[in-house]
Amino acid sequence: MQEWYADVIVDITSEKLDRVFQYQIPEAMLERLEPGMVVEVPFGKGNRLIRGYVTGISRQTGYDPEKIKPIGRIVTDAADEEARLVGLAAWIRNRYGSTMIQALKTVLPVKQKVKSRQLRTVCLELDAQEAAERLELFRKKHQTARARLLEALLEEPELPMPLVTEKLNMTSGVVKALEEQGIVSIKSEKIYRNPVAVRQQESRPVQLNEEQQEIVDEITGEWEEKPDGRYLIHGITGSGKTEVYMELIACAVSKGQQAIVLIPEIALTYQTVLRFYRRFGERVSVMNSRLSAGERYDQCERARRGELDVMIGPRSALFTPFSRLGIIVIDEEHEPAYQSETMPRYHARDVALQRGRMEGAKVVLGSATPSLEAYYGAMTGQYRLFRLCRRAKEAALPRVQIVDLRQELRAGNRSILSVRLQELIDGRLKAGQQVMLFLNRRGYAGFISCRSCGHVMKCPHCDVSLSLHNNGRLICHYCGYEQPQVKLCPRCGSGFIRTFKAGTQQIEQEVKSKFPGARVLRMDLDTTKGKEGHAKILAAFANHEADILIGTQMIVKGHDFPDVTLVGVLAADLSLHVPDYRAAERTFQLLTQAAGRAGRDRAAGEVVIQTYDPEHYSIQAAAAQDYEAFYEQEMEYRRLAGYPPAGNLLAVHCACADWELLTLACDYLKKFIEQIAARHQVTVLGPADEAVAKIQDVYRKVIYLKHERLELLTAVKNKMEEYVGMNEGFRTVNIQFEVN
Ligand code: ADP
Ligand code: ZN
Ligand code: ZN
Repeated sequence: MQEWYADVIVDITSEKLDRVFQYQIPEAMLERLEPGMVVEVPFGKGNRLIRGYVTGISRQTGYDPEKIKPIGRIVTDAADEEARLVGLAAWIRNRYGSTMIQALKTVLPVKQKVKSRQLRTVCLELDAQEAAERLELFRKKHQTARARLLEALLEEPELPMPLVTEKLNMTSGVVKALEEQGIVSIKSEKIYRNPVAVRQQESRPVQLNEEQQEIVDEITGEWEEKPDGRYLIHGITGSGKTEVYMELIACAVSKGQQAIVLIPEIALTYQTVLRFYRRFGERVSVMNSRLSAGERYDQCERARRGELDVMIGPRSALFTPFSRLGIIVIDEEHEPAYQSETMPRYHARDVALQRGRMEGAKVVLGSATPSLEAYYGAMTGQYRLFRLCRRAKEAALPRVQIVDLRQELRAGNRSILSVRLQELIDGRLKAGQQVMLFLNRRGYAGFISCRSCGHVMKCPHCDVSLSLHNNGRLICHYCGYEQPQVKLCPRCGSGFIRTFKAGTQQIEQEVKSKFPGARVLRMDLDTTKGKEGHAKILAAFANHEADILIGTQMIVKGHDFPDVTLVGVLAADLSLHVPDYRAAERTFQLLTQAAGRAGRDRAAGEVVIQTYDPEHYSIQAAAAQDYEAFYEQEMEYRRLAGYPPAGNLLAVHCACADWELLTLACDYLKKFIEQIAARHQVTVLGPADEAVAKIQDVYRKVIYLKHERLELLTAVKNKMEEYVGMNEGFRTVNIQFEVN
């Protein structure tokens, strides 16, 4: 009889994760054993029984069958966090398609020795009055960085150095200068612990308003009854979501449970982190992408030892090994940053739901502009929906107006700044207020549009924009449809039909020539090179070192500029016509976010949205700040086209340095898919060139599969993985799967 073998990795937290050992599967286990299970296997000379994890099962072995040892037993009583995370890895592997090892690496931190670090703390040496006097002096002398540090220290007299340098964007020179003046001292303790640590404040948390309290009451009311309850909080920025999260976390902690809070890295600001520290003190930790592997491991160890109650961080914080996880919060749930760009290409929202289901933990999503997935989930009863309709600090919402760029052209204005926007900028400059000009360019936008009537060239099959290629042809990145570039607009006959080009640099020049007296800052990939380039520009703007800030989406997220009273969106169409079925959704989110930047504090703000497509529902709904209207329209489009969440979409990304080989592989793959999926009416699109068809001499193509049922697509994906694994021809072709 031919034997079955299991691939097993042992000592999971070592760097040798890639080392797979084969063990023979005893007959009695054959039925039950699955990848992701925990087993005990004999190891080394003495056949000591140690724990291992099954990563795969096969009939083949590269070793002498006589020498392969049998598995000792399946460990079913492994109730620890590690075993559960391995289970989660198995789910990720199956859902998103990757090797078990890739999935394990995502989920488990690699063990590394951490050098004991010197934690340095910056301590204020002056009393409040002296400090206030110094602060006044710094302000007078326009020493803004020193002033900012002193301000922070007045609030919190001891600040950990990493918080000062990273979150306040202070150079060590500034700290040194204050040290030399005797204003601060720097204390070191030889410890290894929190990357950031702040004293817990005794002060009472804010009194929740009625809306907030009701959410807390409802969720805590069914805490035990629905351990894996799912909730969506739809509330505009500043409506007090974070206060609700903290109250829910406090509830979990009081029951001896732990909490994970996911926040997109860009929104993980000093203020946000500090709020959690104030509330939960030493038992909070922050994970961010700047932590070394060793530091990350260290954080996980602390969680495992029960030293932490709350972990805050981006995507990867989701895998914190808590033993009694009670709640997972995902703030700004709609952010694209929750989607992993490397294998396995998981989405944190879905993985959080799965972890919640497996471990009996609640999942709370929050957003001002929920993703279609989440809102659809709420409409179909998968989440309980709550709304926060008022800003907690009664500030007026900004006034939004739409400017039709086609009319500007007809009126003879070829500037990127409409007449209306120019008037408003002028007024703000005279009043000494600040302006943000926002270019919502997203990735690659090579679409063709008519300046005169706004018509955009679209794929007749997929309803996404066509992209202009170097060879002068228009191409669909979903299905591969091609046509020659047009010279005249097919709708109005105008010759003003061309690619939409507008760069931040060009805008800067234009703004400078129109407003010679204004101080202008530009923020884009060019100006933010270097480690802290991004933060420096934002800090300079916050310090009033400029009147106008021009930039891409980097400028609209997570930062508060109280004196900005005018936001101009220069060409809303830029994000609207990228070849992506989510283009309208992203546009709505970006516009809503940008609008939220205006008039955060005292003065009511104004927002101008310039566009060639003023009737588009995503622009109309953003201007009216009407999420429901947007949702209804967008769902209609998704239903008609079969895009998620109305249907499911599996992308098969193929990459290879050899173009012919890639083309051949894609053709084979497509034939294979059609063969196995024919009976189930799976729609197969492509292969088509990816939006970026070649990166560093590697060609890239994509095939899309659409179907109502996700399980079916998963099954097809598993068959493809098998097929690809068995065929030599795919050796040099890199294949990655992406779900929805
Ligand atoms: P969101 O997370 O929805 O953006 P936050 O929780 O950050 O909103 O709240 C915005 C601001 O309003 C914060 O400064 C917060 O401290 C304050 N705030 C929130 N809830 C209340 C409340 N009930 N009473 C007073 N201030 C509040
Ligand atoms: Zn036209
Ligand atoms: Zn198409």
